[in-house]
Amino acid sequence: MKYVSTRGEGTCYSASEAVIRGLADDGGLFVPESFPKLSVPLESLKGCGYREIAYEVMKLFFDDYTEEELKGCINAAYDQKFDTEEIAAVCEHGGQFFLELFHGPTIAFKDMALSILPHLLTVALKKNGIKEKVVIMTATSGDTGKAALSAFADVENTKIIVFYPKGGVSHIQELQMVTQKGANTKVVGVSGNFDDCQTGVKKMFSDPALKDLLAENGYRFSSANSINIGRLIPQVVYYVYSYVKMMESGVLHGPLNFTVPTGNFGNILAAFYAKKIGVPIGKLVCASNENKVLFDFFKSGTYDRNRDFILTTSPSMDILISSNLERLIYHSVGDDADKNAKLMKELAEKGVYSVDESSRKFMDDFVGIYATEDQVKETIRNIYEDCGYVIDTHTAVAAFADKENKKNDRGVSVVVSTASPYKFVGSVLNAIAPDRVGDDDFDMADRLCELSGVPIPPAVTSIRNAKVLHDSVCSPSEMEKTVTSWLAIS
Ligand SMILES: *Cc1c(COP(=O)(O)O)cnc(C)c1O
Repeated sequence: MKYVSTRGEGTCYSASEAVIRGLADDGGLFVPESFPKLSVPLESLKGCGYREIAYEVMKLFFDDYTEEELKGCINAAYDQKFDTEEIAAVCEHGGQFFLELFHGPTIAFKDMALSILPHLLTVALKKNGIKEKVVIMTATSGDTGKAALSAFADVENTKIIVFYPKGGVSHIQELQMVTQKGANTKVVGVSGNFDDCQTGVKKMFSDPALKDLLAENGYRFSSANSINIGRLIPQVVYYVYSYVKMMESGVLHGPLNFTVPTGNFGNILAAFYAKKIGVPIGKLVCASNENKVLFDFFKSGTYDRNRDFILTTSPSMDILISSNLERLIYHSVGDDADKNAKLMKELAEKGVYSVDESSRKFMDDFVGIYATEDQVKETIRNIYEDCGYVIDTHTAVAAFADKENKKNDRGVSVVVSTASPYKFVGSVLNAIAPDRVGDDDFDMADRLCELSGVPIPPAVTSIRNAKVLHDSVCSPSEMEKTVTSWLAIS
């Protein structure tokens, strides 16, 4: 199994090399040269736990890791850090199925992949005889940052720097990050939006002079963003796992649809990869908030980021440049890197590109639906009033889209639930009990606990009185300087 760049750099890399590099030198993303197939029938996975299924899936993509290495990574990642033995829980509420991916240490789905990434990376460095220290550099719309910080804090031979949009994340999200301990961690607010953060980080990754400067000082960059295959592939696991759980429960007699709340297109792309390895997945409903660039794209074939950036109550999906879409585009043009590179150049230069009919046909399984802020609020309230189940704002975007899609699709579907309602407690409370909204997120968490009966997770209680350890803020143009002075190499 080799990985190549979506932009045609031409070199092939092993899985472990691709994990270390994160992004290809030409700015492209690594994709598998061809898709493997599950080596066992899905039927035979009935009764298997998360870790077993994780091995069956990941061994296909990380084939230069030995069985012992890969199982070691899996066992170290999916353990008591998760508050349920199932790791990912499938449940039914009010006639909808939910795949809860927020049972990890930072209560968002990013934990599903980030809890294993440091292990995959550490093994990869050893395998490839790399002596340099790895600098993990990450842009976050709120959830990746904390999940990556908590995963990499005090991991030997690594340093981690996280850029988040100052004012563009929830209060709890910000507190989670700025209270992060660990001598190797750094958190910086950027006076800009998530796209500014992501563009700044991508620019540094593909800057040869900066790369040389790092190398001279014994460092190299890697990425914990969802562009890294070390994030993407572990996300394929829970699609296979939830398919098997749905089979076990006997409700499934054909393909299964997934409705995914989408921002950077990593989560839903993993569902597409699950389909490619042989899971009978039907439609992939791409659920967007009011930043509905993907909805417009699936409707028209034109991707146009030239529009206002809207701050919504689902900040982790406030994104206008969905990085991982590049992988789908690449596959849709027949794995033609030149064609893809041309489109990405148009995106970078003009902020817009269009795909042709055959690409659109390739993407037939994707259905774009978006929810307005009012629809999000209403969805949270309706589900709570119907059955007492409380969902977060991101999940609500998907729950709404799922109901919309069901109007003309009778297939069984699963809503991917990406965060605990406690992470966005103000917006959630505003939907179910507006008279109980207050200024303090922790007081509101207490109220939500009374109303929902769901205990407040340790991820929230532990930051209640934690000390702020990071208070740096910079402009997008100062990001590089921030990195070099933190590493003391400028
Ligand atoms: C990151 C995130 C998303 C979006 O996932 P992508 O892989 O970026 O599409 C949705 N919901 C929550 C809670 C997230 O943290």
